[in-house]
Amino acid sequence: MAQENKALDVALSQLKLAARKLELDAGLHKMLSHPKRSIMVSIDIRLDNGAIGVFNGVRVQHWDARGPFKGGTRYFPELTLEEVTALAMLMTWKCAIADIPFGGAKGGVCVDTKKMSQHELERLTRRYVSLIFEYLGPHRDIPAPDMYTDAQTMAWIMDTYSQLKGYSVPESVTGKPIEIGGSWGRLEATGRGVIHCVKQAAQRNNLKLKGATVAIQGFGNVGFHAAEAAQEIGCKIIAVSDSTGGIYCADGLNSEDVLTHKEKTGTVQNYKGCQNITNDELLELQCDVLIPAALENQITCKNADKIKAKMVAEAANGPTTPDADKALYEKGICLIPDILANSGGVTVSYFEWVQNLTREQWPLEKVNRKLETKMTKAFDDVLSIVEREESDMRTGALMLGVGRVANAIKTLGLWP
Ligand code: NAD
Repeated sequence: MAQENKALDVALSQLKLAARKLELDAGLHKMLSHPKRSIMVSIDIRLDNGAIGVFNGVRVQHWDARGPFKGGTRYFPELTLEEVTALAMLMTWKCAIADIPFGGAKGGVCVDTKKMSQHELERLTRRYVSLIFEYLGPHRDIPAPDMYTDAQTMAWIMDTYSQLKGYSVPESVTGKPIEIGGSWGRLEATGRGVIHCVKQAAQRNNLKLKGATVAIQGFGNVGFHAAEAAQEIGCKIIAVSDSTGGIYCADGLNSEDVLTHKEKTGTVQNYKGCQNITNDELLELQCDVLIPAALENQITCKNADKIKAKMVAEAANGPTTPDADKALYEKGICLIPDILANSGGVTVSYFEWVQNLTREQWPLEKVNRKLETKMTKAFDDVLSIVEREESDMRTGALMLGVGRVANAIKTLGLWP
């Protein structure tokens, strides 16, 4: 697994900033700079052609002072240990900001899912789970979907964990299909949560959302559901993209139709009535709200001065680099940081875990109502720090998240 990635440097510099602002004890800062555990595994599977494939896998468990580790599982060819460590750290702060009783983790496998059959992906997932099994569990570490993993992947994780335990453990994983204990509303939760934050931020910035123009980079789970939720409140989606490129339509496009087109052709491009654009062009479009919902490091010092959106809602993890962050702030662009904006996913994952532990199934309306309440509270909590500190929202969110985790560690004490 490659080691050269800047994501961890960014995560560490964010922690350092929060530590300085919070006047955190140096020892606590040092503790939080390191994950509690990083597990690296080689996943050997039989490929469909009879050959053996060997894939690198990892699970990083950052801190669990506020509850069991929780975090997504990403399948991506260029995944690095450092990137996963950074994402695990972000999860720790995110769970604390959302005020849910989880710590932060992240895992993944270096694999290009587009080159694998469903059978190969199933064998890969099951073998991966078997290798990290003893570190997983409903009160240890609970995986969820992330890039290029979905509800089916979670079903395989649950089944493998349950087979190895000898009984069914639905609470061992979240983001599962409904029929095996998944929660209504989990699939849409991250995208919906992003739009709850956009609503809160728009109110405070006097931005009218009816008719507001929205551009979304990444048209996967999060991007699509953010588009749906934005349309519900009257926004106009003027551009979306995927790994093959983007499309633009000044009159607005229908996300459901674009999804049907993508499912048929494998790309959002060449959609009727739209102009094909590049991902770079999408980011630089004149629009009210820009939602990066794909990869890290998309808004950088190279394009920050060309961003024309009034608001950036980070649906993806780490889409903005620190220098770009500063540039956007100086330009007066309202940026809702990832650790707040995309916390809807882990919030409904928490609801799913609670439902599984109590063997209940809540109706969609209840899940959505509770999600909105949680997201609004998290937004308000961050904003009160922003106002007190006269800071940007990322600094406020980091201070809230790091502060809550540090307080938990202080209260627990250090054993032995
Ligand atoms: P996904 O696999 O469903 O979709 C990813 C999308 O990004 C796809 O449309 C893909 O084509 C596109 N993409 C890939 N490379 C791209 C590129 N170079 N340029 C533009 N688009 C590209 O993944 P997802 O679950 O929607 O996750 C998207 C982001 O949201 C990730 O950063 C993830 O960590 C974050 N996130 C996801 C969740 C969740 O619940 N799924 C929760 C919190 C954060």
